Amino acid sequence: MSTLDPLLNEPKIAYFSMEIGLRTDVPTYSGGLGVLAGDTIKTCADLKLPVVGVTLVSRQGYFRQELDADGRQHAKPAPWNPRQVMTLVKSQVRVTIDRRPVVVAAWLYWVESPTGGRVPVLFLDTDLADNAPEHRELTSFLYGRDAAYRLRQEAILGIGGGKMLQALGVTVRKYHMNEGHSALLTLELLERFRRPIESVWHEELVWDVERIKDLCVFTTHTPVDAGHDRFPYDLVERVLGTPLPLAALKRFAGHDMLNMTLLALNLSRFVNGVAKKHGEVSRTLFPGYEISAITNGVHTFTWTCPEMAALYDAHLPGWANDPELLVRVDNIPDDALWAAHQAAKTRLLALVARLTGAAMSPDILTIGFARRMTPYKRADLLFSDIKRLADLGEGRLQIVLAGKAHPQDEPGQRIIQRLVQAIHALRGRVTAVFLPDYDMDMALTVIAGSDLWLNTPRRPHEASGTSGMKATHNGVPNFSVLDGWWIEGHVEGVTGWSIGPPPRESTLTESGDARDAHDLYEKLERVIVPLYRENRREWIAVMKHAIGKNASFFNCHRMMRRYVTEAYLR
Ligand SMILES: *Cc1c(COP(=O)(O)O)cnc(C)c1O
Repeated sequence: MSTLDPLLNEPKIAYFSMEIGLRTDVPTYSGGLGVLAGDTIKTCADLKLPVVGVTLVSRQGYFRQELDADGRQHAKPAPWNPRQVMTLVKSQVRVTIDRRPVVVAAWLYWVESPTGGRVPVLFLDTDLADNAPEHRELTSFLYGRDAAYRLRQEAILGIGGGKMLQALGVTVRKYHMNEGHSALLTLELLERFRRPIESVWHEELVWDVERIKDLCVFTTHTPVDAGHDRFPYDLVERVLGTPLPLAALKRFAGHDMLNMTLLALNLSRFVNGVAKKHGEVSRTLFPGYEISAITNGVHTFTWTCPEMAALYDAHLPGWANDPELLVRVDNIPDDALWAAHQAAKTRLLALVARLTGAAMSPDILTIGFARRMTPYKRADLLFSDIKRLADLGEGRLQIVLAGKAHPQDEPGQRIIQRLVQAIHALRGRVTAVFLPDYDMDMALTVIAGSDLWLNTPRRPHEASGTSGMKATHNGVPNFSVLDGWWIEGHVEGVTGWSIGPPPRESTLTESGDARDAHDLYEKLERVIVPLYRENRREWIAVMKHAIGKNASFFNCHRMMRRYVTEAYLR
């Protein structure tokens, strides 16, 4: 039996994503989108769903982050060798790019679940001797270089991925496009299912649009207009030729530019945003389209630290493949929960000491904030008034920060510099650190070891956010702006705390930074710090509600069951 046979044994859902974060030593992810894709694949394996993943091999990884003394980020390549964990499939396909055939190969990786389920993932690769040097590099850099490079990459992913599945003989029952990056897949499908011109009474009907729509599912992740990939048509013509007559392409992808989101919207029957609020925002951005919402979740087992996992094993057996069982968290004694959390915190503090030399106390409320460093996440909001923070936090607060800024995101890199300056300014009063080179391994340690998970995005930019869901799996309450998933998970003082105004239906505009910062300080000072210091029993009750009311719902098992019933089986 060849390794491919299980890939062919039944029709598959083909899940396309530019980035898939499955494990730290396969660094083909940049942040939440990729980690969500990895969590999705792992959950499909747990649930034995017939899924195949398709992504790019990104041989140079995302990047390794080094910081100098001034907090300037230096991005180093993070090359990895697919051969160590994957095998090359026999088939190769060709995608026409720059009027030349680019040969695409694929590495096959199996995601295996303790349930016995397994899901194959194809990592597409153009680094082949047959290709011109500039084309060999197309699967090297995740989100690298310029628009032309990006468009070529998206052609490899969408068109190359579609062709690869066909070449391997995989029967596909649905194509799921995770974000617009893979939307060129629809062009491949339009071409594949084209009706003969003599059989139709109108030229446009050669495109079997309804058939493609029946096959395609699209998940959008971007709540602001500027975030959607767009390419000028002259660039499209130069890179892709004319995959469809221009008039037809414009009809599907927009008149002025090729808009990947529009292309996917126009050719998918089922479309969804990644939280209820994000569904609303997307319907406003794209009036006239039917857009559902399936709120994200995280892979429960991956995002539960070993100490908590042992506790759940003892008190809630079966939790990992049945995260609803976490509603029974009250069966865990308070002392045992606290001990497990303190053990996770001790591990975090050891990591902090090793990476920064800073000595932090296991008895001081420790705030964690780690995610992609990009302006809308407002990592610097906590530091907008250093004196205030020092006054309220001295002897009472510690802060752990981490996150990479995209190498082309200058404002994001300046935020890291400001954070490093703030850390210096707080010295002697509040211990704060920035841990370099954030990745999935570090994420679990930082999230599980913090006492409070902070998130301060600018509304409505956080489509969902997922690190807060990881926190809840470890009994770490959220302290967050009411945006994304937290609008659904937040019960004030019960599961955690909000920052800033409540999300009115119409709150689609930015809120004032100053107002949010004020609210953040007030609540820390008056509510959160006193509760942690003076009422441990109540604090542990909030930890338990985070597990029982949040983690039991904001997990990928619940999310995938909804994709199956609402998107895949339609
Ligand atoms: C979960 C995760 C993220 C996403 O965090 P958000 O809070 O959604 O921004 C980013 N990076 C890594 C490494 C993660 O594990």
